[in-house]
Amino acid sequence: MLCAICRRDARGFGFAPHLIRVAAPTVKLCSMRCMDIAARLKGMINPNKHEAAALDAASQAGGVYVELLSRTDLTTWSEQEWGRLVDVIVTEYQDTLRRAYADDPPI
Ligand SMILES: [Zn+2]
Repeated sequence: MLCAICRRDARGFGFAPHLIRVAAPTVKLCSMRCMDIAARLKGMINPNKHEAAALDAASQAGGVYVELLSRTDLTTWSEQEWGRLVDVIVTEYQDTLRRAYADDPPI
């Protein structure tokens, strides 16, 4: 199960909006930090401007990595090269999202 905020492994934290009479699904979370964000969003985990920006940043970081490899045929990639692409994309997404929430926390 992944954290509803940052998509890392959920670690025993959660938020149940029905307990505050908000019709939204219960979510699993990774940390107090992400639980605080989910509580401020009242469990409404819909894509927002920060998530869209994080996806754009992750896409660009992945593109830079592919350009560095200078090979777009994925069948020629090693397992390490593929794993590094995934790591670049996921790390950029998570870092961008965390920076965005640090600068512009949800109300
Ligand atoms: Zn999280």
